[in-house]
Amino acid sequence: MAEASYDPSNIFAKILRGEIPSHRVYEDDAVVAFMDVMPQGLGHTLVVPKAQSRNLLDADPSTLGPLFTVVKQVALAVKKAFGADGVTVLQFNEPASGQTVYHLHVHVIPRFEGIALKPHTGQMEKPEVLAENAAKIRAVLNG
Ligand code: 5GP
Repeated sequence: MAEASYDPSNIFAKILRGEIPSHRVYEDDAVVAFMDVMPQGLGHTLVVPKAQSRNLLDADPSTLGPLFTVVKQVALAVKKAFGADGVTVLQFNEPASGQTVYHLHVHVIPRFEGIALKPHTGQMEKPEVLAENAAKIRAVLNG
């Protein structure tokens, strides 16, 4: 079966265009990072390249260096911001894998000993909590 093509009406494309709000923690020429609205754990952040691809499978390789440079920066920042014991980095490709938004993105989730991840795309977090967590991450990234 032929792979589906990129659809610019996806929710992250709208966030990148500023058509819907997000709690941003980082932005450069190539990459944006913002809070996941249905976090699987405290400080769950999404790192998103501005270049358009559905996922890793159709991404231009030139996208990946800048993307994972920011993934590392954000992983270090969330670990420090929340005093985490570790960081889980996740990335899904196509529906069978669990992908639900079809613009390439990487999940960066602080982890704490003995605390399991909440379900993927589970419960919406309160905007004020997302804003507070974003501010903590920005403080580390800008500090
Ligand atoms: P995927 O399943 O595609 O890897 O993950 C998509 C992620 O985007 C999920 O973790 C989900 O909670 C998150 N998400 C879905 N809609 C929105 C939204 O409108 N804003 C933000 N910030 N995150 C979203």
